[in-house]
Amino acid sequence: MKVVFLGTSSMVPTKERNPSTVFLEFEGEGILFDCGEGTQRQMNIAKIKRTRVTRVLISHWHGDHVGGLLGLIQTISSKDKDSTLFIYGPKGTKNHISHLLKSIIFDKGVTLKIMELVPKKIETFLEEDKFIIQCAPMNHRAPCIGYSFIEKDRRKLNLSYLRKMKIPDGAHLKELQKGKDGAYNGKKISVESATKIIKGRKLTFITDSIRNKNCIELADKSNLFICESTYEAALQDKAEIYMHMTSVDAAKIAKNANVEKLVLTHFSQRYKEVQSMVKEAKTEFSNVVAAKDFMKIEM
Ligand SMILES: [Zn+2]
Ligand SMILES: [Zn+2]
Repeated sequence: MKVVFLGTSSMVPTKERNPSTVFLEFEGEGILFDCGEGTQRQMNIAKIKRTRVTRVLISHWHGDHVGGLLGLIQTISSKDKDSTLFIYGPKGTKNHISHLLKSIIFDKGVTLKIMELVPKKIETFLEEDKFIIQCAPMNHRAPCIGYSFIEKDRRKLNLSYLRKMKIPDGAHLKELQKGKDGAYNGKKISVESATKIIKGRKLTFITDSIRNKNCIELADKSNLFICESTYEAALQDKAEIYMHMTSVDAAKIAKNANVEKLVLTHFSQRYKEVQSMVKEAKTEFSNVVAAKDFMKIEM
């Protein structure tokens, strides 16, 4: 599971930072959290093929989060006409995309499957073999959604136990991996003894919003919590007016949600350096870093 930050600024691109976008790679899935202006070029630089994107999760329809979507759809259309791109977003997403598609002339090859999410609380809206994705309503100046990608727990064979019991490799181990008891030479193999559970990893992405109780519930025990940190704590008033968070807001959520690591992102362009934000976040939560464009995290 690999995470690449493709954009870490709020509102406008700066020389160092592109607008909000995170790419997650997981076993053949390429998931974009938001798709800010310039995302395609960022992907080029990060050596991520555009056709690797399978799903786009849109937080909200402010320009800094969706400005790159049309170009991406056009490129995938020209390169891989038979592909399907899943796009998820808040209420209004279908309408916005239909306007986008009408705004330029191109042959739309890719099939778009668009799903509007209108959660009242935390909801699981997608379940695949190996992962689920949850969403929760946020509190911003536009309908906005936070997302969690959660890998399912999986069973791993307990090799030392199998060796001890003289159970060789073979088809009889398949049932164990599915979580069922198995059998070998007429003898039962208990799944509890012969396997162990490997906890799935969890990533939560929240931007843009003021701090609210859904943030804590959605981010609960995340291994990686990516959260907006538009302003320093000194600008708390501004953050509330524009319905954003400060670094300390993000850190308070991280602490209350018992996450493993917090990554601050979506910085206002007024900040040339953001280490002061990391420092003030550390007063609430110690394992915190500031995102920068092209930063990679292996989970
Ligand atoms: Zn924003
Ligand atoms: Zn916004």
